[in-house]
Amino acid sequence: MSSSGLSPLGSLALARGTVDRVTARRLDKDWLDAAWKDPRTRVLVVSEGQALVRYDGEHVELVFVSPDQAPPGTRFLLGQDTDSIVYFGVSAPLPESYPADSVRPASLREVGALLPDRDAGLLTHAVALANWHDTHTHCPLDGSATVPDPGGHSASCPVDGSEHFPRTDPAVIMLVTDPDDRCLLARNAAWPGRRVSILAGFVEPGESAEQAVVREVAEETGIVVTSLRYLGSQPWPMPRSLMLGFRAQAPAGQVIAVDHEELAEANWFSREELLAAVEARELALPPPVSIARHIIEDWYGGPLPSTWSPPSR
Ligand SMILES: [Zn+2]
Repeated sequence: MSSSGLSPLGSLALARGTVDRVTARRLDKDWLDAAWKDPRTRVLVVSEGQALVRYDGEHVELVFVSPDQAPPGTRFLLGQDTDSIVYFGVSAPLPESYPADSVRPASLREVGALLPDRDAGLLTHAVALANWHDTHTHCPLDGSATVPDPGGHSASCPVDGSEHFPRTDPAVIMLVTDPDDRCLLARNAAWPGRRVSILAGFVEPGESAEQAVVREVAEETGIVVTSLRYLGSQPWPMPRSLMLGFRAQAPAGQVIAVDHEELAEANWFSREELLAAVEARELALPPPVSIARHIIEDWYGGPLPSTWSPPSR
């Protein structure tokens, strides 16, 4: 049931998982009630994108509670594993004291690449649903408070009966190469000093992902791209994106014209230039949890030195 490695980019940190989402059970109130009464059921408490993790300096894993220990909050079904263990998420404040020194709150950015497959999938799923529940509490048609369905994967309006589903915002992220196979890396105006990445942007209403790639690259750098190739995707629920990865080619004879509203700079890098800049710590690449890092390494042809350290205890 593992969903790792389905992308040509290999195993993306937040596109992993081993737990069956058991979608057919989401409206089965009797089954859900029985699962919630089962002391083997595991509950992941999520608050503002964070959950408790246990980190022993080497391994990171999620800290679950049993249903009778779970705080009150919006509950949602995450799934069931091959040992018939059922997992729920609850959006609620994390406890103020932790059961051990090695336990602390952490976000997907911090631990998404370090968690084992099962836990990476559960935390990504839980954060995405909790973010939706936390920000979509009322009917957009008449403003009534909505009521989550028993499995917590939709909500309905008690006044007009309209149904509402979790939102996901598609975004494109693309590595552009020139005829010399150099890659275009940019520094966002809002980022700290040395950080660079490939270009990215949201898909607009009424637009295809491919159209968004062409538009975003042109808007941000003045470069016109052709020959798009889809690479793979990973959820990025911070708060609700799905990142769609692409490669694109920039025909010869073009000059970069940076949109300074969005970017501080953008430049072409050969593989040798990029490696030298990273080794000299002149540039910092995106962290391993990001699809950007995998797309850059896919172009580079192997791992690049990391400028990111694991979280402190
Ligand atoms: Zn309504």
